[in-house]
This record gives sequence, C-alpha cells and structure tokens, in this order.
Amino acid sequence: MKRSPQVNRNRLAWCWNDRASLARARPFFVGGVMPKSAPMFRPHGKSRKAQVAERKKRYDDRRESSARRGYGGKWRRARHRFLMDNPLCVCCEKDGQVSEARVVDHIMPHGGDLKLFWKRWNWQALCKRCHDGRKQSVEALWKIGHADIGSLFLGADEVRRDEFISGYQRLRAG
Ligand SMILES: [Zn+2]
Repeated sequence: MKRSPQVNRNRLAWCWNDRASLARARPFFVGGVMPKSAPMFRPHGKSRKAQVAERKKRYDDRRESSARRGYGGKWRRARHRFLMDNPLCVCCEKDGQVSEARVVDHIMPHGGDLKLFWKRWNWQALCKRCHDGRKQSVEALWKIGHADIGSLFLGADEVRRDEFISGYQRLRAG
C-alpha cells in the first residue's frame, strides 16, 4: 500500500506533539546534546582495561619472538644492503631472465639458529615468485634426501655455491 505524503506528515506531527513520546525522548537530549557514546561491544564480557592489556601482551609476545628470530631493525638494514649489492633474482638469472630480487633467502633454512641466520654466505637474493615456488620445492626435496645441499643455492654462480657449501660445513664442524 502506498502512503500519501499527507499521511506521513500527519504521522510526524502526531509523534512530535505527543507528550508521551516527548517524555521518552527527553533523556537523550538533556541540555540539547546527544548521548556521549553508544554502548560498547565487549566480547566475552571483558572490561576495556582487560582488553587493552591483552592486546598489548599479544603484541609484546609477537614482537619478542620476531626479535629473537632476528627479524628486527638490524635485519632490515642488512637485508637492504644485501639487495643493493645483489639486485637481481639469482634463480631467474640462471634461466636467462631478469627479475628484481625482493627476498633475502636463507639458502640453508636457519630454523632459529642465529649463526646460520647472520652468515652472508647463507644468503641469496630471490624474487618473491622463486622464493615461494622453486625454493620451497627444493627445500622439501632436500628434507627427504632427494636433493643435495648445493641445490639449495638456486643461482648459477659456482663460486657462490662453493662459498655456501664450505661455509656451512665449517659451521657444522666447529
Ligand atoms: Zn626469480
């Protein structure tokens, strides 16, 4: 049913002139200001203070663990320097393609080992595609013994590959 404009106007007029509805509306408009804030949504009934504390703890946990893993400002700077010196993806280069390197990959997965983490011979510049694709499959093959350690280095430079292999063997030996 379509309402006529006349009906709507009458209805509004009735509403605002009605004493009962004015009385109901009054608490929200005391002094002509709107209420300060709407009721807040509080999941699991936790107080605002508890929520803030919990969020801070989550943040601290995350920050601490990433710092422990070595991914702090020091790593950001080292990574940046390495990519300045090695701007191209070594894996694409081997295939005769040119891609900008965006990832400093740990040739041997460091697994939290800080020595392995910081050794420059354990770094190779990769594009995101090669890091997420080929490197992951080579690592998977290496883990089940179907690839040798040298194949974790995806570039063509044999000198760099030897540097990596001998560096890794030295680290394991001593
Ligand atoms: Zn690449």
